[in-house]
Amino acid sequence: MSGPDASLGSALSGAEGSRPSPDGLADSLRRLGAALNARVGDVVAGMLDRSARSASPLEREVEDSFARVGALSTVAVARWMSGEGAAVAREVGEEAWQIFGRLAAQRAAPLNEVTKRCLRWRDAAAEVVCETATQLELDADVLAHALAMLQRSLDVTLVRMCQSFEFERHQAHQELERQQRELEFLATHDPLTGLPNRALILASVEQMLARSRRQQAPVAALFIDLDNFKGINDTLGHVVGDELLRAVTARLQGVVREVDALGRLGGDEFVVVAEGVSLIDGPAPIAQRLLGALESPFELEGQDRHRLTVTASVGIATGVRKSAEELLRDADIAMYQAKWAGKNRYVVFESAMQEAAMRRMELEMDLRDALQDGQFFLVYQPTFDLRTMRPTGMETLIRWKHPTRGVVGPDDFVPLLEDTGMIVEVGRWVLAEACRQGAAWRAKGYAVGVAVNVSAVQLERGDFLSEVQDALAHSGMDASALTLEITETTIMSDSEQTAARLAAIRQLGVRVAIDDFGAGYSSLKYLQRFPVDILKIDRSFVSRLMLEPDGEQLIRTLVQLGKSLSIETLAEGIEHSSALSLLKEENCDSGQGFLFASPLDLAASESFLAAWTGDPVQRYSADPDGRAAQNGAFVVHRDPE
Ligand code: C2E
Ligand code: CA
Ligand code: CA
Repeated sequence: MSGPDASLGSALSGAEGSRPSPDGLADSLRRLGAALNARVGDVVAGMLDRSARSASPLEREVEDSFARVGALSTVAVARWMSGEGAAVAREVGEEAWQIFGRLAAQRAAPLNEVTKRCLRWRDAAAEVVCETATQLELDADVLAHALAMLQRSLDVTLVRMCQSFEFERHQAHQELERQQRELEFLATHDPLTGLPNRALILASVEQMLARSRRQQAPVAALFIDLDNFKGINDTLGHVVGDELLRAVTARLQGVVREVDALGRLGGDEFVVVAEGVSLIDGPAPIAQRLLGALESPFELEGQDRHRLTVTASVGIATGVRKSAEELLRDADIAMYQAKWAGKNRYVVFESAMQEAAMRRMELEMDLRDALQDGQFFLVYQPTFDLRTMRPTGMETLIRWKHPTRGVVGPDDFVPLLEDTGMIVEVGRWVLAEACRQGAAWRAKGYAVGVAVNVSAVQLERGDFLSEVQDALAHSGMDASALTLEITETTIMSDSEQTAARLAAIRQLGVRVAIDDFGAGYSSLKYLQRFPVDILKIDRSFVSRLMLEPDGEQLIRTLVQLGKSLSIETLAEGIEHSSALSLLKEENCDSGQGFLFASPLDLAASESFLAAWTGDPVQRYSADPDGRAAQNGAFVVHRDPE
């Protein structure tokens, strides 16, 4: 129903010239063409009329499009009859092709309905041509020629229309394939980092395991969990958190071999799976490279620039497993072990870890109710002035009276509280309870202070200062009698903010101690930056005093360091009188340890305070690990010396 196109040009000229065309024929056709051109409206009306009477009329706009195509096609045929040649007809037909293209693209009409309309156009046009031929009294020969031209136009139109539909079908197919690929990518990749997700990693580990069974080549999974991500996310927000995850991804990608696969399992958990791991070295070098990649601080552009230090704990599982899930689970268990052992390290899975992991999971479940159910309690370990040997304060240490396991020590649950964020609430309770107890003792006339351990997670929060203020206000405790113990690593993690918070806390009159001093990467730089009141020399140095030749020198250096900065030095973990003598010689200010007293429960603490006579050789102890202290098993006995 439109003009002929180039490919059919020769066929058409054949139709025109199949027999020598006398002037009469050309002239008659020209008249017929002119008459048809004048009756385009009638052709369109006839075509629409036929469609309206059919069983399946299409939408108004679609039928309108066909009307337009019908009009264009009629004009094209009319001009062709008038002798204008194929090129002109093609030009007129161009718009019609576009309309077909649109109809096909929009899937506005099924192919059979379009075909029917083409045929209806042909019928309507033929009707008008016949009528006109009769009116013009043209030869049957002319009419036959005109109808042949009309039929040829229809043929061309049908071919073109099918091409349009075929083209669109092809386009649609390609689009579908593209969407399919996109969907597949989305289903198997993490949108934030573009890394393979858990599903894809599991699938590739399954393949590797199958290969390794055939080829005896070991497969390794390295489970990577960032150590301080939750804190960063909570304090700096998700935008910075996301940026950090992308930056971490880039660093890890930089050290993962082409043949190994890096994936993100969710949150701050990544995994590397490696095939054909070196039999001699095992996967340890991979873990070292991964940890090394995170070593230098991250510079993040956000609203403000952030400089962040990120470490990770890596768990490694290698060898034959029934399933990919199993390999990843074991790597996960080893990763937890790495967290437990102090983070920023890798640990290789051993089967004994599984039981420990189960136990921890149970503990974590039980911990959820512990605060509400009043299962936490505090024990108190005295500190002493090493010159006068008088008690200076009580360090509060938390205990958990588990309903079935008995008393659980903080090393077994404080990390869990920190990981889950529960430490915030529990820490608030410890602080309030310690202040309340301290105020009560002071009201009774004991001039002791209390020290409270504060974890990094607590200090990272903006409202920590007001928590301290609240605890002091509610208890009525002197600010100067409260000491907050903060570990070195806490101070190093997020320095600017921590510095500001510590300064504000000291403004209240509260004292700040650096706990476990020397155990981390303590450096003078940090000490200058964070004004603190007390250095608590880590007990490993005190125990080394007895064991290692350089132990004495180490202690001397640490004490001297405190002296030169005018910071009080407190040696923890004093177990032997020989260590005590040495520390006294070095002028270490204060001390704490089983030699004097282990952590005491409330009743034992009160007896301790009441019974204190100032006699330096008395030793107070409960169960040496402090765990039995809650039942009041407190003994005072003479030191053998
Ligand atoms: P820490 O602050 O270094 O506490 C001292 C730990 O050393 C206590 O263990 C104590 O029982 C033990 N200790 C004391 N004297 C000696 C000694 O002469 N020899 C030896 N070998 N050990 C000694 P505990 O009570 O199991 O506490 C372990 C850690 O748990 C604490 O280390 C502290 O970091 C953390 N912690 C305890 N209570 C709290 C708390 O309320 N909040 C937070 N965030 N952490 C706490
Ligand atoms: Ca402490
Ligand atoms: Ca300590």
